[in-house]
Amino acid sequence: MTTTDCQQAAVFDHPAFDDHEQVVFCSDAENGLTAIIAIHDTSLGPALGGCRMWSYPSSSDAVTDALRLSRGMTYKNALAGLDLGGGKAVILGDPRRDKTPALMTAFGRKVAALGGRYITAEDVGISTDDIEIVAGETEHARGTLATGLGDPSPYTSLGVFYGIKAALAHRTGSDRLHGRRIVIQGLGHVGFGLAELLADHGAELVVADIDAERVDAAVARFGAETVAPNRAHTIEADVFAPCALGAGLNETTIPELAAPIVAGAANNQLATEEDGERLLDRGILYAPDYAINAGGVISIALAKPGEGDEAVRRKVIAIGETLGQIFARADSERRPTGAVADAIARERLTRDGKRKAA
Ligand code: NAD
Repeated sequence: MTTTDCQQAAVFDHPAFDDHEQVVFCSDAENGLTAIIAIHDTSLGPALGGCRMWSYPSSSDAVTDALRLSRGMTYKNALAGLDLGGGKAVILGDPRRDKTPALMTAFGRKVAALGGRYITAEDVGISTDDIEIVAGETEHARGTLATGLGDPSPYTSLGVFYGIKAALAHRTGSDRLHGRRIVIQGLGHVGFGLAELLADHGAELVVADIDAERVDAAVARFGAETVAPNRAHTIEADVFAPCALGAGLNETTIPELAAPIVAGAANNQLATEEDGERLLDRGILYAPDYAINAGGVISIALAKPGEGDEAVRRKVIAIGETLGQIFARADSERRPTGAVADAIARERLTRDGKRKAA
């Protein structure tokens, strides 16, 4: 067996393998490309998901990431009401050291060879400029100004804004933001945009970031209070909005949470599945991350070159309605909101797609 055959055989036994339709191992030594493209499910449409570049400790870590992330995209796209399946590409290497135009061109050819079954976009380690290069080789690339609206972050912020309003409405009976105290952890592309929207609607902000310049900018611009990044979750507030990195909600931090709502953009907020139960036990309303942060993928999926963003905004604003349904069903079934979001996505996949019922 060749190395590739061995890897492929190992994929079927991999704990993260979930009946993925196709896993493609790509190599172009001349141009320094080693990549994996995982297509999880195309029953709702072509598999859309970003391309990540990362120095994985081993190629099997890259396989794990590709399998997990592509499955996540199937659920995210289904729940967002997009007629798209789920896929993801990972390029093995350090983006600062190994990324070259030749490598991105080679990756573009691999995407082109899939004939539209996989549509790529930017992700960690890959910028819109890199995707412009990919788009020179294939029409199946999105997320650039040439293919649509460019940077998806403002739409992610908008979706989180409507998600916070939906959570407030569910918990308090009013989605009013004026005078609400909201903690934002992470003032990057999404967090800062969210702060702007919330401040414009009269919310009082408490902000945290490991980058002092961003904190200073938020203080100057919004009159925000500040808190140390590792204490942000302990602040008494109406909403805690994690917008930095994932896995911030765990067995240590959940007992310390002092806000009745957690609603923010960060991916993979729960360290483990049990953390959903922990939040439920504490009576904290959690907006599932992949439901509330779908604004970016919606903009990538629906934007068309030369068109305005009305259709995108409508779909992004509908994230609030989807969350309202998730919250109501979670209450009536006494289940964690994340489990309900998964159930709704699976129902769409079996109803409109071809997935077998779980
Ligand atoms: P970003 O890199 O622009 O910003 C992240 C910010 O978090 C930075 O300002 C960084 O200094 C800060 N940070 C890092 N560690 C921190 C810590 N421990 N405490 C406080 N601040 C910390 O990233 P982004 O594009 O704004 O994305 C934020 C989160 O939202 C990520 O988890 C990302 O995966 C998720 N997300 C982003 C989008 C998007 O459209 N950009 C879409 C979906 C999900």
